[in-house]
Amino acid sequence: MPAAPAAFLTQSNDALTRAAKKAIMWTYHPDLLATPVPRYTSYPTAAEFGPLDNSIYASALEGAAGDVSLYVHIPFCEKICFYCGCNTAAANRRQRLESYLLALQQEIKLVSERLPKGARVRRLSFGGGSPNALAPVDFVRLIDSLFVAFHLSDPVISIELDPRSLSAEWAKTIGGIGIERASLGVQTFAPHCQTAIGRVQGEDEIVRSVDWLRGAGVTSLNFDLMYGLPGQTLHDLEDSLQRTRVLGADRIALFGYAHVPHLVPRQKAIPDHDLPDQELRFEMAELGYSYLLTHGYTPVGFDHFAHPGDPLASEALAGKVHRNFQGFTDDAAPVLIGLGASAISSFPQVLAQNVKEAGRYRMMTSGGVLPVNRGVVRSADDRYRGAVIEQLLCNGSARVGARLLGEVRGGLQPFVERGLASIDEDHVAILPVGLPYARTIAALFDPWRQQSARRFSSAV
Ligand code: SF4
Repeated sequence: MPAAPAAFLTQSNDALTRAAKKAIMWTYHPDLLATPVPRYTSYPTAAEFGPLDNSIYASALEGAAGDVSLYVHIPFCEKICFYCGCNTAAANRRQRLESYLLALQQEIKLVSERLPKGARVRRLSFGGGSPNALAPVDFVRLIDSLFVAFHLSDPVISIELDPRSLSAEWAKTIGGIGIERASLGVQTFAPHCQTAIGRVQGEDEIVRSVDWLRGAGVTSLNFDLMYGLPGQTLHDLEDSLQRTRVLGADRIALFGYAHVPHLVPRQKAIPDHDLPDQELRFEMAELGYSYLLTHGYTPVGFDHFAHPGDPLASEALAGKVHRNFQGFTDDAAPVLIGLGASAISSFPQVLAQNVKEAGRYRMMTSGGVLPVNRGVVRSADDRYRGAVIEQLLCNGSARVGARLLGEVRGGLQPFVERGLASIDEDHVAILPVGLPYARTIAALFDPWRQQSARRFSSAV
């Protein structure tokens, strides 16, 4: 698909003065946000995954060529937060961690044996869970085995970190390995919100983490923040944004808290009545967007922001950002291989997910079996729709063929009438004021979305 102009960016960044950026006012249309929609970190989304024979995954691995990215899932955390929807468990038993790492070593062997020699690993990411729930010595062993097993070609290495369990030893390990990109789970600085979400971390822990990571050579530091938290006010959010900016975050991911206790039982600890309503969530998303733009950050897609100088900002301005399971990214590799329980691999022709249960994951890998059991084979139509959705979410515009445009024209009309989107021949654009509706507009291109709304969250 030919690259489309970056509508979000051409109209909301360089060309605009600071005053003009302030003038971008979002309008709340509750009817257009009434239906929950996916975050589209893949298309089809994980909700569409069904049973998948692991021989399909094996063939995809054997056919991989060129640049490949690796994601390693560490499903353990020191303390479990109430709001967390990740596949993770308490890291309180040494034996549990050891047997998981052993299974991971077995999976590394199984996958690397199938990957052709021509496939070069250019990116290596660790997420979870919290990779720093591992002992630094175990992490170094894991890195060593990845370097031995795969053809790693001067990879960009990134890691997600929990500031509560980061230590000077861990920071030294990060410096020793040469990890340049790190992401801190911060969410909020407001103590009452931290208590309500079961994630109490003092500002001193964040400041200390930033100092350690900068000292270790981390040049791209992301802060994950959230709005829509229990008891959170606009003031709380602005205060957290300000502290994040002052601490020098190169990237910020500002997520709306998705309250789905029917899918994530641990969220039952968060009472519904403490949550901001939809209109306040909308105001919070708008506040975050305008605050970060007026303080020099470049918007990336609908919920990421990057400081000029960070590679993600320059890729966004060039219309070269992508979307994968880690969110908006400057990683252009067509193949992402997920290692670890519940990790998802993405190939142009197939999406494949490892088994979620750690026990079953261990059993399959120790038996020499690739631990994939779910996924979806992507048809040509899936790939086409996926490319349109990715372009819309990353750049705010996409070229759309006549058949698909005919299919969605009626659904797009309310957005066009309210000045949120435009259609120009075969070109659909989400206008700057339509940004909070980006996921809803993208969902018009997704025929699966006529069902299963309860699985998703509000677009803001
Ligand atoms: S530290 Fe992160 S991954 Fe672990 S429970 Fe909290 S939110 Fe989830």
